[in-house]
Amino acid sequence: MLRATFKLLSLHNTCRRIAFAISNPKSWPISASLITMGNQSSSVNPPVRGMASENEVFSKEELKKRLTPMQYHVTQERGTERAFTGKYNKHSEGGTYYCVVCHESLFSSDTKFESGCGWPAFNDVLDSGKVKLTKDTSHVGANLLLLIANPGMVRTEVSCLKCNAHLGHVFGDGPRPTGKRFCINSASLDFKSYADQKKEAS
Ligand SMILES: [Zn+2]
Repeated sequence: MLRATFKLLSLHNTCRRIAFAISNPKSWPISASLITMGNQSSSVNPPVRGMASENEVFSKEELKKRLTPMQYHVTQERGTERAFTGKYNKHSEGGTYYCVVCHESLFSSDTKFESGCGWPAFNDVLDSGKVKLTKDTSHVGANLLLLIANPGMVRTEVSCLKCNAHLGHVFGDGPRPTGKRFCINSASLDFKSYADQKKEAS
């Protein structure tokens, strides 16, 4: 009886949250993006001052010529390569990972770890000022109730701040010290080993 009452109360509270959010979107911390749903997203990072002039915009035609169809799909259409198929998933050489579109250095092999998720996983970015984090509700579709039952469906998209290429998502279940898991598509990345970087510098 007690459990049934609790369930009813919690259902009642859930309905109140929905009604409140719908009537007053700005008052619920994540409500604005939830209410809009679909592929809408809202920025988690405030705009970085002074970065706008450094942004690079590439034409669709140029990118279609330069990138593979998978690289184009992932970076420009926010796609996801199939798990365990990317070339950097099982890649353990020491070096730097770059944005495949604008060649900005984004991740280091020093923070790469085997997460078992099927995509390259990093514990951190080289510089937090080089990536953009955005709330991504595209998984949820229009089902608000589904989202309330499973808040983990709101993911945080990671994209390149310089050229806006989609890279992947970041989750809070990574190892120490950051506790983060940047789950990144191989198709968004280019790699240069430390040995090659030394050769080029000499
Ligand atoms: Zn980029």
